[in-house]
Amino acid sequence: MKCGGDGVITRQAYLSRMANCECGCGGTTDGREFLQGHDQRLRTNLEQRVGGLLKLRSLVEAAGEYANGTLALDAFADRVRASLARRPQGH
Ligand SMILES: [Zn+2]
Repeated sequence: MKCGGDGVITRQAYLSRMANCECGCGGTTDGREFLQGHDQRLRTNLEQRVGGLLKLRSLVEAAGEYANGTLALDAFADRVRASLARRPQGH
């Protein structure tokens, strides 16, 4: 198997590939979307913000129905509010 490049990555090339971790932790990756395991962090965070996996599913389903025209904007807005509105005792 032949190696096409010289195998050396310059510091500038390395830095240009770096990216912020998408989970919001402030970490820096080598160009990937997430640091190791941080995709799960984001998934958990999104679930908690919505109030659980089932509510997250409901929200995604509502967005899908709105996108393909089977749910009117008003009804979609109601479902979003029902999912994301802060609860009276919420934090
Ligand atoms: Zn992260």
